[in-house]
Amino acid sequence: MRIGRFSYKEQVFTGNLSDDGKVYPLTGEIYRDIKTAPYGYPLEEVKVLAPCRPSKIVCVGLNYRDHAEELGLPVPDEPVLFLKPPTTVIGPGEAVVIPPQSKQVDFEGELAVVIRYRAKDITAEEAPYYILGYTPANDVTARDLQKKDGQWTRAKSFDTFCPLGPYIVTNVDPNNLTINTYLNGVLKQHVSTSSFIFNVYTLVSFISKVMTLLPGDVILTGTPAGVGTMLDGDKVEVEIENVGRLANPVIE
Ligand code: MG
Repeated sequence: MRIGRFSYKEQVFTGNLSDDGKVYPLTGEIYRDIKTAPYGYPLEEVKVLAPCRPSKIVCVGLNYRDHAEELGLPVPDEPVLFLKPPTTVIGPGEAVVIPPQSKQVDFEGELAVVIRYRAKDITAEEAPYYILGYTPANDVTARDLQKKDGQWTRAKSFDTFCPLGPYIVTNVDPNNLTINTYLNGVLKQHVSTSSFIFNVYTLVSFISKVMTLLPGDVILTGTPAGVGTMLDGDKVEVEIENVGRLANPVIE
């Protein structure tokens, strides 16, 4: 399934984009019963929003060896976690806004995990059951402020710093996907998630032993080497094999 959030006229709903090109609203409690309504809207007639509304976005720093090396940091022996507030989320096509406080706003193409069921103290073996699916994400980072502050809250938390979408794709193997990030059409990051230091199921288990994960919560699984700075007028795209392509303009 390709699950997203959409608006049609004044109405916002969660739906499944079917192969017939129509979006069928999901009925019942999100995401407990995934049943679709008998009617759909043509994709051209709806606006595609960010695919979920997380209570929190849990991010993993340094989950690829090559990115740790480019930052001159040691490879961690446990996942390093940080948070982005839900107010960072924007949907496909919405603009990333460079704040006046930063002179170096970087893209970080990442695989995002979306949680289906409330998860607390689960094992890696149990993790697939708790996961709804996967979507492309951009962990936008004010790199200069990250270095200056010595911790990451401000650098990671500006409004618009978490583009997500377009859809949450179910039924893919998250530990064997190719991620490509493009800046103005030029390939900047290229990696397979098979080179994760900590795989998706290990991460979900590890995080669930710290904090309760709720339906719609998002986990950003880390970025590979090749991060770079975005400027006013740029276009950044994160493309994940069998998951989708997330494109966002950048403005000052
Ligand atoms: Mg990141």
